[in-house]
Amino acid sequence: MPNVILLGAPGAGKGTQAKRLVAKYGIPQISTGDILREAVRNGTPLGQQAGPLMSAGKLVPDELVVGIVRERLKQPDCSGGFLLDGFPRTVPQAEALERSLSEMGRVVDAVVELDVPADLIRARVLGRRSCPACGAVYHVSDSPPKVAGACNQDGSALITRDDDRPEKVEKRLSEFAALTRSLSPWYAGRGLLRKVDGTASPDAVFQQVVQVLGDGR
Ligand code: AMP
Repeated sequence: MPNVILLGAPGAGKGTQAKRLVAKYGIPQISTGDILREAVRNGTPLGQQAGPLMSAGKLVPDELVVGIVRERLKQPDCSGGFLLDGFPRTVPQAEALERSLSEMGRVVDAVVELDVPADLIRARVLGRRSCPACGAVYHVSDSPPKVAGACNQDGSALITRDDDRPEKVEKRLSEFAALTRSLSPWYAGRGLLRKVDGTASPDAVFQQVVQVLGDGR
């Protein structure tokens, strides 16, 4: 079972591909964004620290997210492999991950980067709507709900995630650009980076992802 990292800008399709990988390989998806959003909803100390940074489209400090991931990787469901989504986002986070894994006698098997041009990313993120109750994600034109503005599963009114608003999107894209500049070459230097064209349909992207994982093991 693979230990995989999924890299890609917000809106590159990480969430969609992550769900499919989880189903195919039976590994847990570890999304630092999801964990942090839950902490914000529950008003925990972590959430209180992270919330304002997240709604400003800024990164949460490395030591906070590194701590979250370290604890999560120790859980028994990660013993047969894991899929990291949204982490690492900086080289220091990648270094900390490498150290934590080596303490556990483990390594990263592959880093899959979903490559999508910035204009397409903007169109995807700005049209994204989510269900506040169940977390289902839609797109106003690419994958609309059956009834406009309402979740297919539970009928809740769909919302635009605060950090999917235009001004926040630009901030997140520039943070992401700064990150990839350093993170992709860092993993490429370790022979782990597998780039995939993320502009195709979700099915076609998934085929490529499975193929590069096969090649990489
Ligand atoms: P995401 O859902 O992955 O786009 O994450 C949403 C927000 O959570 C980001 O804009 C950051 O504020 C924060 N976040 C998630 N993962 C990380 C990370 N690895 N490092 C720093 N901040 C993070």
